[in-house]
Amino acid sequence: MSLYTTAQQACKVLSLHGKVALITGASSGIGAATSILFSKLGAKLILNGRNVEGLKETAKLCDEANKEKIFLVPGDVTDETVVEHIIKESITKFGQLDVLINNAGIVGYATIENTSLKQFDTIMKTNVRAVYHLTMLAVPHLIKTKGCIVNISSICGVRSFPKYLAYCMSKAALEQFTKCTSLELASKQVRVNSVCPGVIDTNIFVRGGMTEEERLQFLEYSKTTHALGRIGTLDEVAQAVAFLASDAASFATGISVIVDGGKHAMCPL
Ligand code: NAD
Repeated sequence: MSLYTTAQQACKVLSLHGKVALITGASSGIGAATSILFSKLGAKLILNGRNVEGLKETAKLCDEANKEKIFLVPGDVTDETVVEHIIKESITKFGQLDVLINNAGIVGYATIENTSLKQFDTIMKTNVRAVYHLTMLAVPHLIKTKGCIVNISSICGVRSFPKYLAYCMSKAALEQFTKCTSLELASKQVRVNSVCPGVIDTNIFVRGGMTEEERLQFLEYSKTTHALGRIGTLDEVAQAVAFLASDAASFATGISVIVDGGKHAMCPL
């Protein structure tokens, strides 16, 4: 291949033109930022989230030229009938599915001494079981398009932290889910990867039980736990997701892209 052809291909980097992408948890945070970037990159979007007003807000911020290519499928992904409905409606609307972004997720704070089975079940149901179910139903359609999956995991899936027990376990499970399914689907040319963000300022912390004051303290403290000396931005995560979803990552499968300002490499001195 000549350098000229390579340069021509470079022009296609990070285009999602013509691709149909389903993004869960698109009503806020990383899911919303990813949706907005995907829309700018030319993708047709199927946006899921529980908050309809939030989803409409995300759609409003999407690329003006692509507004008619956005379809909202609100609902709770832990509800099996909702998941079936999301896939059915998506295929009815766009006739194909190229990209699945498993982003919807929740956090909870507890150690083995003060956790509960209820907390374990709630976190696992959203962060693992719902992803398992949605992916099961999406895969036949992704095989047809030789599509791809990006799972929004966490640095908590690859490193261990106290006080986030069920969350860390759920993201570690998502990491194995990513790698195992990447092997199972590789012969069908379906790629499966994950993105592992460090701390990003979103609603997840307060939703998970932090007070506003605790959130601010945690964000301030987090500057010291990321080697780059700051927390990450929504766009920094969305860019990594877009790369993995695009043809620019056509030879990448089974990988975890860590977007954490170097947090994973740090050890206490
Ligand atoms: P967020 O709370 O802003 O967004 C989470 C989204 O998921 C929301 O739209 C929420 O409504 C949706 N959601 C949650 N449960 C759902 C359900 N049962 N059905 C449908 N939608 C549901 O938080 P975020 O930080 O943007 O989180 C997105 C993903 O990023 C999560 O998987 C989270 O674990 C991961 N993550 C976040 C951080 C961070 O620091 N913010 C770090 C690493 C990983």
